[in-house]
Amino acid sequence: MRRDVVVLGSTGSIGTQALDLVRANPDRFRVVGLTAGGSNEELFERQVAEFAPAFNGLGEDASTEAAGMACDVVLNGITGAVGLRPTLAALDAGNTLALANKESLIMGGPLVTARARPGQIVPVDSEHSAVAQCLRGGTPEEVRRLVLTASGGPFRGRSREELAEVTVEQALQHPTWSMGPVITINSATLVNKGLEVIEAHLLFDLPFDRIEVVVHPTSVVHSMVEFTDGSTLLQASPPTMMIPIALGLAWPDRVPDAAPGVDWTKPETWEFFPLDDDAFPAVSLARRAGERGATAPAVYNAANEVSVEAFMTGRLRFIDIVPTVSHVLANHDVPLEEHLTIEDILAADTWAREEARLAIDAATNGETL
Ligand code: NAD
Ligand code: MG
Repeated sequence: MRRDVVVLGSTGSIGTQALDLVRANPDRFRVVGLTAGGSNEELFERQVAEFAPAFNGLGEDASTEAAGMACDVVLNGITGAVGLRPTLAALDAGNTLALANKESLIMGGPLVTARARPGQIVPVDSEHSAVAQCLRGGTPEEVRRLVLTASGGPFRGRSREELAEVTVEQALQHPTWSMGPVITINSATLVNKGLEVIEAHLLFDLPFDRIEVVVHPTSVVHSMVEFTDGSTLLQASPPTMMIPIALGLAWPDRVPDAAPGVDWTKPETWEFFPLDDDAFPAVSLARRAGERGATAPAVYNAANEVSVEAFMTGRLRFIDIVPTVSHVLANHDVPLEEHLTIEDILAADTWAREEARLAIDAATNGETL
């Protein structure tokens, strides 16, 4: 049966690939809603002309409205905290949420997961899609741990000292993935992997000490699940978002020919390395934020968004991104989780942005964090 799809963030990396998939599978999917931020209006107009959705609009409010439309699945491909209200609107309307916008889940934490019925959120992040696929191989009780793979980004193998002078251009050169700018910088700092550890904890309901990260430079193995008998299942394909996007839109079905598989007629080497926590402290910082819970993950995300923006505009050094996030988290009083509301989350997000700006201004004036 054909699925009615709403694509939020349609002009981005995830959004355009989702529309490629719809274009290739008109018998499976129909676009009923399109929204974007407005930085590429010309592309958006072309998309609207091509797919003729029942609803289209630019901005956060339009995305929230589209997310609540009657449809089969909402793909949230927006970048950043601004994806929170659309995520909540999709869940409250009972729509399946194909979630690329990990920030909204991480910010809202239990407030988001509590609003979702089992299976309502289908992960589009490649690691979490891999885990979801591997989890089909056993019962929840049989799961020992999750192992998320990380490419290590463009600066893999460098020491902290060697990271001091890296430029924006270098940080935007991802070795295996072509993605939007924020997630690309987050992949270079490993903040993206930190966010993904929290995302995995929320999606799969496992404690942080049962979610590991391993560096796998070629991004062919997308993640793994180890079961209680010592057996590990992993999911592999050449790096592509087409498979996780297709699964996100069609779950639990697979879309034939979504992407080419591994070519076993050519030599293929898979390498795995432990993560260097000294050079890349973002993952351990995320674990601590995740364990504190409540508003701490929202603060981690918000402080990072501001720091990434400051790095991209030349106001903050690459190696000061994660220390800025750490500094903001250290100053944050985490409220008790019991009575937490969305307003508390949004207030923490606003506070963290201001606190990060103050820290960045201080750093610009030569003060150390
Ligand atoms: P991108 O920057 O390429 O695209 C972002 C999209 O969001 C654009 O269409 C933009 O117009 C839209 N947008 C921005 N502000 C908006 C607003 N206020 N209202 C509505 N739309 C708005 O980003 P991307 O790489 O496609 O990433 C999107 C999300 O998917 C992020 O959360 C990212 O972490 C996640 N993700 C991306 C990839 C990837 O391969 N690109 C992989 C895994 C996860
Ligand atoms: Mg990912």
